[in-house]
Amino acid sequence: MTLPLVYHPIYSQLELPPEHRYPISKYRRLFDYLTDSLTLNERHDIKLYQPEPISVNEVKALHHPDYIDALFGNTLPAAKMRRIGFPWSQQLIERTLMSSGGTKLTVDLARQHGIGIHLSGGYHHAHRDFGSGFCLINDLALAAKHALTLDGIDTVLIIDCDVHHGDGTATLLADEPDIITFSVHCDKNFPARKPDSDVDLALPKSTTTNEYLSAFSGVLNLTLAQYQPDLVIYDAGVDIHQQDELGYFDVCTQGIYQRDSLVLSQCKEAGIPIAAVVGGGYRHDHQLLVELHAQLIHSAMTVFLGESQPKTNQC
Ligand SMILES: [Zn+2]
Repeated sequence: MTLPLVYHPIYSQLELPPEHRYPISKYRRLFDYLTDSLTLNERHDIKLYQPEPISVNEVKALHHPDYIDALFGNTLPAAKMRRIGFPWSQQLIERTLMSSGGTKLTVDLARQHGIGIHLSGGYHHAHRDFGSGFCLINDLALAAKHALTLDGIDTVLIIDCDVHHGDGTATLLADEPDIITFSVHCDKNFPARKPDSDVDLALPKSTTTNEYLSAFSGVLNLTLAQYQPDLVIYDAGVDIHQQDELGYFDVCTQGIYQRDSLVLSQCKEAGIPIAAVVGGGYRHDHQLLVELHAQLIHSAMTVFLGESQPKTNQC
């Protein structure tokens, strides 16, 4: 088999003020790193896909049409743009639509191949009628809704391992019984208000690698057994890392690899297709994020392709 990866250069094509804390270049850096570091054999095992932008009608079927019209037409009040955290630009809108199209395509590829990985995605703080925390529209919820339209998919599970709670996803899908939301996050981190997901695992600041993996694996097993999803969407945020600038956990690099491997192998063993997105990760030096995010692809190559495990930094 081949490992499908979804990427578009537009993901990193956004001009931001100097010192803006969003690591916009990490998508391009991750793509370049993978291209440069994989051996010829490994490259044969990967197939790249470029997405199309998601349609505005699909977005409006999930988000409030007035919010979307104002967002896309640059007529949102300044306070609402500040809550999103990006200056408005046409580039921002185009990049956002493409990224949601990418997560949707990743779901289609996961259904065909058992696995798909999106080198973007995870905009889980976007709510029905407002955006927040660098999230304009919720690609996870859009992709999950799309998945339910596919033959043989009656239940979707979103596993959100970003260190921040998946508040937008939880509220957008609160009345959707066929999409199960599972957030594992830091209890004292953004957002201040954490509406209930179907399953929430809130861990304290300074949670260590062993504490994290032990708590998460237990709840993961229970959740998969209870809901028996036909497809998983996995937000593999690396902002749980001990040196992340917006996370408060004490999880090491190898711990993130183990977490990714746990989710991917559980899904593979249970025969559940998994669509993964890279999610959050915040470091002033964007290149430092790349190896953390690349572990998701390395883990998938090991679990799905039987490639030997690459060397990762020990804790
Ligand atoms: Zn985050």
